Amino acid sequence: MKVIGLTGGIGSGKSTVSDYLRNKGITVLDADQIAREIVLPGKEALKELLAYFGEEILLENGLLNRKKLGKIVFSDPDKKLKLDQIMHDKIRSQILKKLQDESSQGAPYIILDAPLLLETGMDRIVDQIWIVEMQDTLRISRVMKRDNLTEEEVKARISQQMSTEEKRKKAHSIIDNSSDLENLYAQVDQLLANL
Ligand code: ATP
Repeated sequence: MKVIGLTGGIGSGKSTVSDYLRNKGITVLDADQIAREIVLPGKEALKELLAYFGEEILLENGLLNRKKLGKIVFSDPDKKLKLDQIMHDKIRSQILKKLQDESSQGAPYIILDAPLLLETGMDRIVDQIWIVEMQDTLRISRVMKRDNLTEEEVKARISQQMSTEEKRKKAHSIIDNSSDLENLYAQVDQLLANL
């Protein structure tokens, strides 16, 4: 089974590409969703987060307050490092388990949508890397609107990710999302045809 890692900067259009692929019946593993599953109440990752960050990162209903945790770590590199240490290995092993399940069911290929594919070294478990790109001005304004963040908050998140130039060096294919959706989907169709 071929594993295609789909990545790109915050707000570049990964979810838009993933949704398109899913609608075509292709299996897409979503690393963000896996990250949410492993912090559900009772899970080991949540226990470790609570031990380090305290109860203040919980919502009243006992779920993790992701927005609050995001604000805490994005302004404190040590805390960000600790969060990564708690999360990354667990996300990775869960992804490997899901890939194995899909492989045993005979899927010819699978997409792994992972915003931090390159930053976390998960590119080593994929066969191809597709990178979605969108110019900064456009993605910053789209993410500000989508997530109700300030420009500074979005830029802080961008600065934590690998630069576009570094990402490019590792890409097998670059998907240019600077135009409309029709153009975006046509590029994805071409990549699928080449597989
Ligand atoms: P994140 O890294 O934050 O998860 P993402 O890379 O998954 O973001 P999307 O959520 O797919 O990015 O796209 C960001 C926003 O831009 C969304 O609101 C999406 O609907 C919109 N968008 C993406 N591509 C286009 C496009 N070609 N034309 C118009 N809007 C677009």
